[in-house]
Amino acid sequence: TSDFSQYTLGYDIPALPGMKVEEVQTPALIVDLDAFDHNLLKMRDEIAKYGVRHRAHCKMHKSAEIAKLQMEQGHACGVCCQKVSEAETLARAGITDIMVSNEVCDPYKIDRLAQLPKLGVRILVCTDNLPNIAALSEAAVKQGTELEVLVELDCGGSRCGVADSAAVLELATAIIAAPNLRFAGIQSYQGAAQHAYEYADRKALMDTAITITKDAVDLLESKEIHCDIVGGGGTGSYPFEAASGVFNELQCGSYLFMDADYRRVKDKDGQYLPAFEHALFLLTSIMSTDIDGQAVCDAGLKAHSIDTGPPEVFERPDLQSLDYSDEHGVLKDPQNTLKINDKIKLVPGHCDPTCNLHDWYVGVRGGVVETLWHVTARGKFY
Ligand code: PLP
Ligand code: MN
Repeated sequence: TSDFSQYTLGYDIPALPGMKVEEVQTPALIVDLDAFDHNLLKMRDEIAKYGVRHRAHCKMHKSAEIAKLQMEQGHACGVCCQKVSEAETLARAGITDIMVSNEVCDPYKIDRLAQLPKLGVRILVCTDNLPNIAALSEAAVKQGTELEVLVELDCGGSRCGVADSAAVLELATAIIAAPNLRFAGIQSYQGAAQHAYEYADRKALMDTAITITKDAVDLLESKEIHCDIVGGGGTGSYPFEAASGVFNELQCGSYLFMDADYRRVKDKDGQYLPAFEHALFLLTSIMSTDIDGQAVCDAGLKAHSIDTGPPEVFERPDLQSLDYSDEHGVLKDPQNTLKINDKIKLVPGHCDPTCNLHDWYVGVRGGVVETLWHVTARGKFY
């Protein structure tokens, strides 16, 4: 988006390019564009270093504009999303290589998914059961399209996915035999490893995940079934997948924005993961200071998700996040430094569900609004 003339400031959009950050209408998500660029290019360098592909996970930001930047500047080979309506949004916006890294089971959703290749889009989807493969095939035949299908393997996350290599082989064989489906490989995402704060815990989970995945890939190879994609990995685990020699496609999402919970994840040396910077902030305004030692801001539960704990107050160790209700956030301000209308930057506890609460990202550089990005797939969870 570059023409904002159709929008009314404050009603439709929280800011206009050229405004000072202090003038942004709060609560608003602001993106520090220097940190964003750093993260974007850091991941580009990481995949070059390891010699793997990156299929950027867009469930995190839900923005087609950001997805394009990840592909063009960040050298992502394509994108992931979790929902058919997210895939529809991204496809309509011109993204041409989209994996739904999830099971799609509802007949209407399967039919919608099977229509998407008509837009000139490569569509990939995951599965973990035979009836689903039959349903995907039937819909693709009906629509005259082709769907690429990955078998999802449970490599330790205990979410979706088949239990073992024999089941992977059974489903891969069924996909190969099914009309209008193409077998694309194995989806093997260890969700439980991502936010394991200690390196040793992540390593243990990932050693197991890689062993399970390698076994499945090897069994398929022994039957001359080749995996184009062996996919998995998120911001917390990707160095393990990337170095494994088993995985060839990562699907990190949060690296681009980071959040307070990912900041707790530690590297080998006990230090926090250094690679990525906080790029996403919730800008909020102080609206009451009547109680001694506290200030109330305008960012409550409708502005951010606190499922992984409260946000952190950025670069203000003297201030503490206390309590959040629908429209209010209570901060502990022991020295009574905050005044009415002061702006502070909160680092959201968890970026993904926070982003889904907003329509716009306000891109800021040097204290000035440079651009706005639409959260294109906001609320698209069907
Ligand atoms: N892949 C899948 C299947 C996911 O569900 C997620 C996030 O939950 C990711 C990748 C990306 O993880 P992160 O945002 O932690 O990088
Ligand atoms: Mn998340």
